[in-house]
Amino acid sequence: MDTEYLKEYLKRKGATLVGVGDVTQALSRELIHLTKGISLAMNRGLTRDTNQLLAGLQKLTQEWLKKQGYRSFSIPPDSDRWKDKLITRLYPLVSHKTAATCSGLGWIGKNGLIINEFYGSKLSWSTVLTDAPLTIDRPITESQCGDCDLCVKHCPSGAVTGSNWSRRDPLQEIVRYERCRSLKGKRRHFSEKPNCGLCITICPYSRNGLSHPTGNRKSEQEILQKS
Ligand code: SF4
Ligand code: SF4
Repeated sequence: MDTEYLKEYLKRKGATLVGVGDVTQALSRELIHLTKGISLAMNRGLTRDTNQLLAGLQKLTQEWLKKQGYRSFSIPPDSDRWKDKLITRLYPLVSHKTAATCSGLGWIGKNGLIINEFYGSKLSWSTVLTDAPLTIDRPITESQCGDCDLCVKHCPSGAVTGSNWSRRDPLQEIVRYERCRSLKGKRRHFSEKPNCGLCITICPYSRNGLSHPTGNRKSEQEILQKS
């Protein structure tokens, strides 16, 4: 099956990154037949427009797979917001983080987000599961944050624990989300943008949205002044 063709096709249609991973280990009974996860990323913030663009890419992926005679199931970018239909109960069964790391497109950073080597945490993600015999990419199973601790040091709520992610330890607490939510609640009273997001902007992989850690970076001080 021409996996490279599918990837190039989706990139021509607007995907920034496309990867394919074996997600068997993460699957529960309901989805056990869909062992491949196609991870799609766009270099844009998760806005309504981005959701629509990613949904369009998922539709193209599913149409292509269907033409070849294979089954598929799409998990939308904002899967946590869908709670109204029966099918949406399947969304939490496989996370975009699982598909992205299994596809080798990134690791889970100390900030709890998918970090891609070139785009940092500034990508928006969606996933298509399928039973098609696509060629899989090499997975990433360990954090590549190393001894960097910028997001730990600068998180104003103390939510970032500093633990390094590993596929072998899925229960490890990387971010104490209740602390992050609590800070967001307080900021809501005096700011229209209550998300602090410092753990994204401070990350060397995400700086400037450009992306490459050796690229045109702002200094730590510049980022802190603007936050
Ligand atoms: S968004 Fe802000 S408070 Fe929440 S984890 Fe990131 S740096 Fe900490
Ligand atoms: S700031 Fe450093 S430790 Fe935090 S996610 Fe980025 S690379 Fe990892």
